[in-house]
Amino acid sequence: MKLILLGAPGAGKGTQAEIICDKLSIPAISTGNIIRAALKNGTEMGLKAKSYMDEGKLVPDDVVIGIIKERLAEDDCQNGFILDGFPRTIPQAEALDAMGVDIDCVLSIEVPDEKIVTRMSGRRVCAACGASYHIEYKKPQVEGVCNICGGALSIRKDDEPATVLDRLHVYHEQTEPLKDYYEKTGKLRTVEGQEEVADTTKLVLATLEI
Ligand code: AMP
Repeated sequence: MKLILLGAPGAGKGTQAEIICDKLSIPAISTGNIIRAALKNGTEMGLKAKSYMDEGKLVPDDVVIGIIKERLAEDDCQNGFILDGFPRTIPQAEALDAMGVDIDCVLSIEVPDEKIVTRMSGRRVCAACGASYHIEYKKPQVEGVCNICGGALSIRKDDEPATVLDRLHVYHEQTEPLKDYYEKTGKLRTVEGQEEVADTTKLVLATLEI
């Protein structure tokens, strides 16, 4: 299964990607997580991406396309993968096509903008491993502590309300046109993001027939 998850920031792509990844034993690849890890490790790519990310803007296409090319060449991608947060622009989708990647399905998780802003204020991430939580919808077992690695949970800088509005604007302008792009290939499926994670998961699994 080669799957792309589309949706606004905070629509629940990462959460659903983790669930599908466990179910199908294929990697969930988040360009956002890869960039945050690079930033934490102080690599050149991370430093280059920082200013874009902090302002809620997209990192230049050539940088993220390079990241994805390298990641998809790794052994664990041979049986499939889930792309969470890539592609985010038409040129990125075209680059994926040019790599000869034959996507099976593009699933768009739809959540109205008003809901996104309140949701994002409750999001917490593990600075150590990138796992994502929510203070209401996806609580960690111990408050403020990552279930997976025990790292401390914090608020992402780009989840501040003003930056979220900028990211939503970027989503509608640059990423949403991908729905048309993939509709034309007949691969686009859509689900409405629900209040409860488990309810969205049911819809996602039914739509993917897994
Ligand atoms: P995310 O964790 O997916 O919300 O991504 C966080 C930030 O990383 C975005 O706001 C962008 O600055 C950057 N980013 C992640 N994926 C991409 C991408 N495919 N294209 C451009 N920028 C990206």
